[in-house]
Amino acid sequence: MYFNSFNHVGRARWSVAAIISQKRTQQCTVGLDQQNQKTFHKLSLYGAGFGKFVNHNHIITHLLLMNGSLLLTPDNPDSDFDDIDILKLTLTEAELIQPAATNSFLCGEKFPQLITFMGCSPHLVFEPPEDSSDKYCHVILHQHDNIQLVTGQQTAPPRCPSCRHRISDWKKYQQQWHEHTSSETWSCPKCECVSYPWQLDWRQSGGAGKLLIEIKNIFPGEAVPVDQLLAQLKSISGEKWRYFYIA
Ligand SMILES: [Zn+2]
Repeated sequence: MYFNSFNHVGRARWSVAAIISQKRTQQCTVGLDQQNQKTFHKLSLYGAGFGKFVNHNHIITHLLLMNGSLLLTPDNPDSDFDDIDILKLTLTEAELIQPAATNSFLCGEKFPQLITFMGCSPHLVFEPPEDSSDKYCHVILHQHDNIQLVTGQQTAPPRCPSCRHRISDWKKYQQQWHEHTSSETWSCPKCECVSYPWQLDWRQSGGAGKLLIEIKNIFPGEAVPVDQLLAQLKSISGEKWRYFYIA
């Protein structure tokens, strides 16, 4: 898979899309399984042979992390705010997004002012790639009648909202929590507090909500929404918003 991706990069000259910090490279390497580590190692050697060791690491890192998202949602997952039309209008007028007929949007002119990238600036891809993949920075609005739990492969174990007990075996509940987010409960073995999955403390590596703004192609911690954007969201919904990441 990664060899294919790598070849694709070579052909499409996509490699310039990746200027990524060393920290990011390390985070990525840690997340690889054994087989991928071998691939990573091979590719690194391949890159070294051409005197571009660092660049090739960066390319691979970038490809592996393309599935990350930054999500914004009301702080209370059970929020009653459901006016997606006013949300679209606000985000369009703020120029975070460009107008669109669906709930998937290209980034607007002011996206770089409303979403701040930390550390070194990555070369962001804002246009859909020629292979029609979704590996580019764009915005999707999600609306659901019921609370949706949002987690990813790299989501850290959530904590009990009452005593902060770390639920280290949470992955065994992951599927049922996703399917029954508002009916399944979890009882804390330490303090006996009973919580719905959406009430757990997911910190910034997971979350839940009915209305979510997803900014695709952002790695956890790589970018944050500016206060102005969070304030605008608060002003239209009457409540505080939070953000988190999945990858
Ligand atoms: Zn507890």
